[in-house]
Amino acid sequence: MNALHPDLSRIVVSADQIQTRVKELAGQISTDFSNGDQLYIVGILKGAFIFLADLTRQLTVPHAVDFMALSSYGKTTSSGAVRILMDLREPIEGKNVIIVEDIVDTGRTLEYLYRILKGRKPASLHSCVLVRKQRDNLNIPIEYLGFDIPDVWVVGYGLDFADKHRTLPYIAELKRD
Ligand code: 5GP
Repeated sequence: MNALHPDLSRIVVSADQIQTRVKELAGQISTDFSNGDQLYIVGILKGAFIFLADLTRQLTVPHAVDFMALSSYGKTTSSGAVRILMDLREPIEGKNVIIVEDIVDTGRTLEYLYRILKGRKPASLHSCVLVRKQRDNLNIPIEYLGFDIPDVWVVGYGLDFADKHRTLPYIAELKRD
C-alpha cells in the first residue's frame, strides 16, 4: 500500500466507506422521492463536485443538477460572512430541492443557504452532507448525512487545502504545523 502524503496525518474516512455510504444515501433519496416528482439537486462548489458526481450517478429517480458557489474559508480558518459567488440558473419555486454539501463545520454556510433557498419557495428543501464535524452547538437539519467526524481540518474527496488534495479517494486529516 502507498504511504500517506507527508501533508496528511491519517485517513479519517476510507474510500470504501465513502463509496458504501454514498450508495446508501442515493438509495435513501431514491426511495424518499420515488413518487415521480423531479428532484432538483443543488451542488455547492467547489467542494461538493466529486460527492455530487458519485451520488447522482447512483440515483434511480429523475433529477436535474445545478450548482451554487459560495464564498469560502481562506486556508484553514473561517473568514466570517457567507456570500453567493455564483447562483442557480433556474428558479426553484415548486421544486423538490436537495442541497449537496461536502462538509458542515460551524453550520453557518448551510444555515445561510437554507434561508436563501427557502425564501425562493421550493416545494421541499432537504440537505445531503457528506461529513459533519461534531459540535455541540450544531442545530441544522441534515436529512441525509454521510459521516460525523472529529473537529480537525480534512482534505480529499472534493475537500482541499489551498487547492491541494481534492482528488484523493478518501478523506484524511491534514497535519498541523
Ligand atoms: P461552515 O459554514 O459549516 O463552518 O463551513 C462550511 C465550509 O467550510 C465548507 O463548505 C468548506 O468549504 C469549509 N470547511 C470547513 N471545514 C473544512 C475542512 O475540514 N476541510 C475543508 N477542506 N474545508 C472545510
